[in-house]
Amino acid sequence: MIYVIGIGPGSYETMTHEAISAIENSDVIVGYKTYINLIEDLINGKEIVSNGMKQEIDRVKKAIEISKTGKIVSVISSGDAGVYGMAGLVLEMSEDEDVRVISGVTASTAAASVLGAPLMHDFCHISLSDLLTPLELIYKRVELASEGDFVICLYNPKSNGRPHYLEKAFDIMKKYKNSSTPVGIVKNATRENQEVHICTLDTINYELVDMLSIVIVGNSSTYIKDGKIITRRGYQL
Ligand code: SAH
Repeated sequence: MIYVIGIGPGSYETMTHEAISAIENSDVIVGYKTYINLIEDLINGKEIVSNGMKQEIDRVKKAIEISKTGKIVSVISSGDAGVYGMAGLVLEMSEDEDVRVISGVTASTAAASVLGAPLMHDFCHISLSDLLTPLELIYKRVELASEGDFVICLYNPKSNGRPHYLEKAFDIMKKYKNSSTPVGIVKNATRENQEVHICTLDTINYELVDMLSIVIVGNSSTYIKDGKIITRRGYQL
């Protein structure tokens, strides 16, 4: 049996009880090193299979192999396993294994709670990583989401290999969104070294953003009140 578990954005408090029980129930934990480290205290004495980034297919093969021996295996993702995580791949690759996906708090909702309430109306997730997605399609989604006045949560906003995608995405958003639209940057939400920056579409400092950050850009009803970002849902006050 294979659990695919979202362990949340980082702190023990933001993990679900279901995720904790599934980990406790498991014989073997499979995951990316950084995420295994985040749950160290929960996995003492269990067999650990960890490897690096970009080795997802190997990781799933290994998990399937182990589950065939009758052991209970947990494949770990950060946040929610079904949001740019391991859930899809495990389901795609499994044959007759019993796979259970266990949801977690994803980075956007964790960051939103830190920023205030920016996701009160229709929003979308766009990953700026072009490792598995053509760049033109990413920009097209940024364009159409902006035209549609969605609040936009940018995952994987920046890495050394692609430092300018975020700036380009902002240029596209500026065609449709007002330059004073609130923007929140949260780095390491709910983890050690959490950082929060609130700015606007035209005052963002791109240097503050890295791969450990998520960027949330408001819609036409988003404003800043007492240092918090709020998207109006439409209540008449
Ligand atoms: N499955 C994860 C997303 C993995 S993609 C989830 O549901 O959250 C990795 C990207 O998620 C990072 O580049 C970053 O943009 C975002 N992310 C994950 N954890 C984060 C955290 N604690 N704080 C800020 N951003 C985070």
